[in-house]
Amino acid sequence: MSIQLVRNIFRQGYIQRVLNTTNSIAKYSSQLPSGDEVIDDAEPINIKNPYKRENRQCLLCKLNLTPDYKNVRLLSQFQSMYTGRIYGRHITGLCKTKQQQVEHAIRRSHQVGFMPRYHKYPEYNNDPKLYDPEKPIRPHPY
Ligand SMILES: [Zn+2]
Repeated sequence: MSIQLVRNIFRQGYIQRVLNTTNSIAKYSSQLPSGDEVIDDAEPINIKNPYKRENRQCLLCKLNLTPDYKNVRLLSQFQSMYTGRIYGRHITGLCKTKQQQVEHAIRRSHQVGFMPRYHKYPEYNNDPKLYDPEKPIRPHPY
C-alpha cells in the first residue's frame, strides 16, 4: 500500500466527516435561535427560585373551611372523646386564626347546647381522624 493511497483514504474520511457536520448543521439550524436573538451568558436568566419553601397551610385553610357552631360533626373532631378537652394547636396543627375560630365555635356550641362539654357524641367516634392526638405535631408548650 503506497503512502499516497493511505493519504487519499484519510482525506476521504476527513471529507466525509466534514460533509456529515455540514449536513447536520443544515438539518438542525432551523431549531437553533436565529441570528437576531443574542444569548448573553452573563445576563441572569429569570427562573423560579428552586429554594423557595412551599406555602404551608393548615387543614382548614387548605379546604377553605370556616368553623361554625352548628357544624358539630366537624367541631367534635377537635375535642377529646374521653374528657371533652379542646385540643391545642400543637396537636391539631391549625394556624392561630383557625384554632381561635374553632375554640370560639366549640364554646358557642356548648353554650347553645348543640355539643356536650365533657364527652364527644359516640356516633362521631369512628370519623376519619384529621390528626393523631397521641403524636402531637409539636411538643407541648409547657
Ligand atoms: Zn390556617
